[in-house]
Amino acid sequence: MFDCLIEEALAEAPTHELALNILKESRDPANAQKLFQAASALRDERIGRNLWWTAAIEGILPCRLRPICGYCSYVNHEKLSNESLLKALKALEGLGFRHLHLSGGTSPAGYDAEILSMVEAMRGVSDIAIEVNLGPSFGRETVRRLKDLRVSCITSSLETINEEVFQQAKPGDSLQSRKALLEICEEEGVPTRGMLLIGLGESEDDRIRQLFYLKRLKGLRHIRFSRFNPTASGRYSSHPRCSPWEVARIVAVARLVMPEVQLGLAAGNSPDDIPLWFLAGGGNQLLGAAAVRKTPKSQAGVDVIPIEEGLWIVNRTKLQERYIHEMGLGTC
Ligand code: SF4
Repeated sequence: MFDCLIEEALAEAPTHELALNILKESRDPANAQKLFQAASALRDERIGRNLWWTAAIEGILPCRLRPICGYCSYVNHEKLSNESLLKALKALEGLGFRHLHLSGGTSPAGYDAEILSMVEAMRGVSDIAIEVNLGPSFGRETVRRLKDLRVSCITSSLETINEEVFQQAKPGDSLQSRKALLEICEEEGVPTRGMLLIGLGESEDDRIRQLFYLKRLKGLRHIRFSRFNPTASGRYSSHPRCSPWEVARIVAVARLVMPEVQLGLAAGNSPDDIPLWFLAGGGNQLLGAAAVRKTPKSQAGVDVIPIEEGLWIVNRTKLQERYIHEMGLGTC
């Protein structure tokens, strides 16, 4: 029975109903194995198996949402100066990275001038591929300017498409504004990246609805999947941790629905999640290093490189390379 569902999904683009059916039936590990096998074979055929590195410069701007999201673990800092930003950029380039994303807090009043100034400064010294993730903190004119500055992708993370769950978790935020940014990018011909936060309280049907909402965007290049991880305090401190099983199964269904889209891991996942993610058809981008502003914890196999006071590069490349080589895979 489950084999027939997989065959149907491989024969032609799956419908919402079929994708939901597969997701539900894949709770059974015997079915999940078949799903993962089909999804990873599809990945190999359509985008290949080679994993590739990206980097991040995090916390570039303070988050101005009030109230803050109930699950927030972000530590606010003042705007990262352009001078510090360029130091982080050069350090990441020195480590060999050719692709990075800038992420920071959200501002309902807009961070248009700030992000343009930052990207212009970076473009003055580098041709690195730049992605931007600031929530819905800028409008159409800024999207156009970022396109002129050769920003390769803009993220608008809906987290969940379920309005009630979104509103409860993110009362200071706007699902509509996040959707509007994706629509603007689509109209302006700027590639986009979406994100799902798995385990926030959404249903399996919500997860599939969100995949199909993203699938219709012609500019969609990438979806990243966060795994809910409760913070020690706050409104969501007793909300259950999301299992890696939930993430792996939705990644695999996403692969059947969108064979050529990059499907990556985001917050709440760790390098230990890479093998299951890859088995489930995930691929092919890995976050190797990040410039961070929060004092990093030391961890075996992870290099911490001080850049200046309050700014470090945390490089997890070596640790992940070992995992990848143990799986017989390569990176580029
Ligand atoms: S958008 Fe929400 S989760 Fe993200 S930094 Fe702001 S308050 Fe925190």
